Amino acid sequence: MTADTVIDAVERAHRAQQAWWVSEPQARAAVLESIATALDAQAEELATIADRETHLGMPRLVGEVARTTFQLRMFATALRAGSILAPQTDPAVPGPPPQGHPTLQRVYLPIGVVAVFGASNFPFAFGVLGGDSASALAAGCAVVVKEHPAHPELSQRLVQIARDAIAGAGAPMDLLTSVRGVREGAELVAADQIRAVGFTGSLAGGRALYDIAANRATPIPFYGELGSLNPVVVTRAAATARGPEIAKGYVESMTLGAGQFCTKPAVLLVPADSTIIDEALALLPGLPAMTLLTADIATRFDAGIAALAATPGVLVHRATNSAGDQQSPAIVTADLAAFLDPASALRHECFGPSSVALTYQDPAQALQVLNLDEGVLVGCVHGEDDDPDAHLFLRAIEQRAGRVVWNGWPTGVAVTPEQMHGGPYPAATASTATSVGLHAAERFARPVVRQDWPAHHSNPAAIVERAE
Ligand code: NAP
Repeated sequence: MTADTVIDAVERAHRAQQAWWVSEPQARAAVLESIATALDAQAEELATIADRETHLGMPRLVGEVARTTFQLRMFATALRAGSILAPQTDPAVPGPPPQGHPTLQRVYLPIGVVAVFGASNFPFAFGVLGGDSASALAAGCAVVVKEHPAHPELSQRLVQIARDAIAGAGAPMDLLTSVRGVREGAELVAADQIRAVGFTGSLAGGRALYDIAANRATPIPFYGELGSLNPVVVTRAAATARGPEIAKGYVESMTLGAGQFCTKPAVLLVPADSTIIDEALALLPGLPAMTLLTADIATRFDAGIAALAATPGVLVHRATNSAGDQQSPAIVTADLAAFLDPASALRHECFGPSSVALTYQDPAQALQVLNLDEGVLVGCVHGEDDDPDAHLFLRAIEQRAGRVVWNGWPTGVAVTPEQMHGGPYPAATASTATSVGLHAAERFARPVVRQDWPAHHSNPAAIVERAE
């Protein structure tokens, strides 16, 4: 299979969009279900290709296919029930304004063709058929996927499966087309007929493409889900009550998937008199070197760790040797002052199995970190019931995170209708949007109000009254 040119891929998707503009919610649901069924049928084969390309391991990858099909079906179920993107009506009220008004009906139209960029670390859940494609298709949009160079064979296979499944559901196959290449990715965002972008990836890549979207003659919405320095803070009471358990949970979470999660606990804050950091450091020698997704990612991780080691006030702890794509986990201890320096290497995401561990003397010091004016995807507080510090920490994190976790770890984003996966910049480019959960479809649906719209011009196909 060869990649389409950008012009060709966009034009074909645009034509499919024209035909699909007034698709019924049931028809969109059928498309999503057809894709989910096809993926489930080939889960083992797909996970095997993904494992060869990513080294993420079969259990994780088979599980990720299941998560992806669950997500597709969640949108399908909601479309059938009329519980997303359903028209809502304000019936006419006779009399003069402001009380009196005509009949207003709010409907949601597809925004148009959506460009989707997936990330290296979730070949299924944030890939060709991940949340961005699922939510765009749910909103009635055609999708042009930028295939990821970290899993080229898998990407092509997924595109092929999706196109066949779309056609199998009686919809235009070109509702999903794809392109490949860095230059092509930039051209895709600039292409006239693209009306929105869903991006999951690095801050640098996301920002470069966001700027292209914003600088077009006709700027378009760019929904970028980026990297994040997710904080985890432990109160004094929690450190006293269950320090060893917290140390173990921290190391497990920061090394899950070889640390290649946007939600990894990037910054741990513990009271200065606790032994949690020592206990976490003691676990490092028991951990093997980990195979990272690509040689480039391993090189960048190694360079990131080297930059941290060269930073004043910073100590890098690594137990085993690293070479090539085999990288050993690292815990980085640092002075609070070094972390608070905005120019410090500590303030950049180091994508891979590492985390920064800091200590605080009193809650006000911890709040200096928690109150930084930078968005994060998720933050966690470990505390006890009636903990005097927990309330302050929770409220501080809530000001800058999309998700706040009590007595848990940031890794693991449940697929549920009300999930919020995003956050203020630089965690994401649109702080009010989520890329996981049913609300993700709202990014690609454009509200229109029909005022006194003549009933005989309504498209019954596109209207499903909200199921009460
Ligand atoms: P990436 O290097 O930014 O790549 C993502 C996609 O964007 C790739 O297809 C890449 O293509 C393209 N791209 C990047 N820069 C580009 C540019 N300047 N012009 C055109 N295309 C460009 O990210 P990644 O390595 O795949 O993923 C790891 C990052 O994603 C980490 O930072 C992680 O935290 C983040 N992430 C975030 C979430 C979230 O939901 N917030 C989820 C998963 C991962 P090329 O490689 O061909 O350039």
